[in-house]
Amino acid sequence: MIYDSREDRFNEECGVVGVYGRPEAANLAYLGLYSLQHRGQEGAGIASSDGTSVVQHRGLGLVADVFDEDVIRALGGDMAIGHNRYSTSGQTMLRNTQPFVVEYALGPLAVAHNGNFVNTELLRANLEAHGSIFQSTVDTEVLIHLIASYNRSTLLERTIDALKVVEGAYSVLFMSDREMIAARDPNGFRPLVIGRFEGGGYVVASETCALDLMEAEYVREVEPGELIHFRDGSMKSIRPFEKRERHACIFEHIYFARPDSMVFGTHVYSNRKEFGRQLAREAPVEADIVIPVPDSGVPAALGYAEVSGIPFEMGLIRNHYVGRTFIEPQDSIRHFGVKVKLNPQREVLEGKRVVVVDDSIVRGTTSRKIVRTIRAAGAREVHFRVSAPPTTGPCYYGVNTPTHGELVANNHTLEEIRQYILADSLAYLSEAGMYSFLGGEDPGFCDACFTGRYPLGAAETAAGGQMRLFQSGDKKPGPRLRVVKE
Ligand code: SF4
Repeated sequence: MIYDSREDRFNEECGVVGVYGRPEAANLAYLGLYSLQHRGQEGAGIASSDGTSVVQHRGLGLVADVFDEDVIRALGGDMAIGHNRYSTSGQTMLRNTQPFVVEYALGPLAVAHNGNFVNTELLRANLEAHGSIFQSTVDTEVLIHLIASYNRSTLLERTIDALKVVEGAYSVLFMSDREMIAARDPNGFRPLVIGRFEGGGYVVASETCALDLMEAEYVREVEPGELIHFRDGSMKSIRPFEKRERHACIFEHIYFARPDSMVFGTHVYSNRKEFGRQLAREAPVEADIVIPVPDSGVPAALGYAEVSGIPFEMGLIRNHYVGRTFIEPQDSIRHFGVKVKLNPQREVLEGKRVVVVDDSIVRGTTSRKIVRTIRAAGAREVHFRVSAPPTTGPCYYGVNTPTHGELVANNHTLEEIRQYILADSLAYLSEAGMYSFLGGEDPGFCDACFTGRYPLGAAETAAGGQMRLFQSGDKKPGPRLRVVKE
């Protein structure tokens, strides 16, 4: 029997990286994708250009499995975009893996997208009615068809027109054979940062941890609604959209982003530690040790321990080499699914009153197994603390989430959840506490999965987007697209 070890969590969206004006651009993009592996493990791809043609390689699996030296060498040129995929729309299959590379009226075009459009069903239906044929089930392809359909003479103009039609969350990279465009949606849901290489060249990436590995200097965020156009060796900022309220995804700070990254202008590690400090102020408890659910719960547990004065210990040790699936033994072993990932340390836990800190409870099933595992290792009491408010709604903006009905906090009281996860006590960080150091009353974050306040409306109701379709009269150049290997 195959046990699906996918964690009981919201899952990261995708990671994007673009390198411009730098030799070995594909190799640098590969390093960037490596750093952004946590944002998607289902597939990866890189497209590169040497100024005359676009080549690409993509595959299913982890970055290290998808690329080897020969493949990277074949991805020549000084410009490249890359993508790590975690499916948020469309299924897991090679043809859904990005970057998408197409040939259209102006030449080759590669696109890598992190996020989710909320009005693609209507757009897709309209495009199909006008003759478009889709090759994948991913919403990003809608954007490509829109760009191809406009009768404009430059990629930049077509991109702006297309982005004015789509609604939703996006940090997206476009690359032709000669230029690269980075764009962030007007609400700024998903992160995107710009870096600069010493000696020339730029990088754009989902998180700053990608810049660190490439030894690029952090310049700034791409602002919500901003396009950055890289062409002829320079970088130009364009702001074609009306200014909107910022709704940066708060979950980036709670769980998605790597703790060593800076997103939306602040450091993830510091913020997570502060969530833990605030949680200790709001929900103290008498205990002997504070332990995290590793890895993501570590900074918050450190903060909780610091304020509470209770010693921090690693009571659960994570196995970092567990794949997505493994073969479960015929003889049923209790809690096997959790234990293969998180092994309890009896030496640390036995006889102790334990505070266990995690960043979220989604369905509750994993939390229940963790509490059971800690008790089975001899803990006297288990007090569960969550460094975020209760997760009550799904995400429609590029995050893989369960449905309303599957979210335990959506239809259960705090006491019912405590009983279900078998904890002696349970507390969540309050919404006010979460924002107490992140901007106060108007922090500019999307927190819809906690509050139900969906900035664009839920996907079911967000069918907006005016279609403006044109048939391109441009003469189509000869094919300049080459697939390295698939
Ligand atoms: S709904 Fe939640 S996960 Fe989705 S963008 Fe908003 S805060 Fe982030």
